[in-house]
Amino acid sequence: MAQEFQGKTALVTGASRGIGAATAIALAQAGCAQVLVHYASGTEGAKVTAKAVEAAGAKAVLLHGELANEAGITAFIETLKPYSGHIDFLINNAGSLQKRAKLEDMDLATYNQVMDLNAKSVWFITQAIAPGMIARGSGVIVNVSSIAARNGGGPGATIYSASKAAVAAMTKGLAKELAPAGIRVNAISPGTVDNDFHARFSTREILDGVVRMTPQGRLSTNEDMAEVALFLCSNAARNIIGQTIEINGGAFMV
Ligand code: NAP
Repeated sequence: MAQEFQGKTALVTGASRGIGAATAIALAQAGCAQVLVHYASGTEGAKVTAKAVEAAGAKAVLLHGELANEAGITAFIETLKPYSGHIDFLINNAGSLQKRAKLEDMDLATYNQVMDLNAKSVWFITQAIAPGMIARGSGVIVNVSSIAARNGGGPGATIYSASKAAVAAMTKGLAKELAPAGIRVNAISPGTVDNDFHARFSTREILDGVVRMTPQGRLSTNEDMAEVALFLCSNAARNIIGQTIEINGGAFMV
């Protein structure tokens, strides 16, 4: 695989921890020359990711960007300008539930943050990066949706689920639009990953319940996600277009 990734640049949003960090490191280990490590509040985590990327032999560039509001998305796109024409792999991974809120508790500010971070940033970052890929006639975009897009999510995660359904729909629409230009767009759809995301938003009781309902009998890991994202970037996935790959140990079957 190393040869096909050689000399390539990847941008991974939300690479300060979790799935994004694992994917940034996997891309470096696969042979990418440069990995752009995006982060927001996780400065220390981003530095740890960058160190691992460099240990794998790639150059790491830390790029800050707050993506849960329009001003932050616009500022990040400015930050990207020196790199945006040269990105071969775009992993639109940054995302969050922000907080669990049922219908009566979901305020407008939180609604907007969830949609801006999980859906709007995916669209406008892709809009900034795609022209460089189109000019070169090649590139791969991997979005990160969620099992919640399929099942409506756990308690208080309805708007999060809607934002991830938007990502799955964008994946198909963009795939159709960009495939003729030589760009493949797909998504991964994690189930329940045993990482900081659920440490913050779920209880051990909820997670144990998920394990009981999962045929494979365990939660997913960051590396389970990263390896499928890497596969989608590789030539082995050359005929896969517009798919959202469910990765959840059998907890949800399409
Ligand atoms: P995580 O550990 O919470 O990491 C989330 C990443 O997103 C962090 O790098 C974080 O950056 C970034 N991020 C969060 N808020 C941000 C903001 N306002 N602006 C810019 N970046 C922000 O979660 P994860 O599990 O790795 O999640 C990665 C993706 O997978 C997300 O899109 C998530 O929705 C999706 N997903 C996760 C699960 C799961 O079970 N964990 C399931 C389905 C889908 P900073 O730390 O630097 O702020």
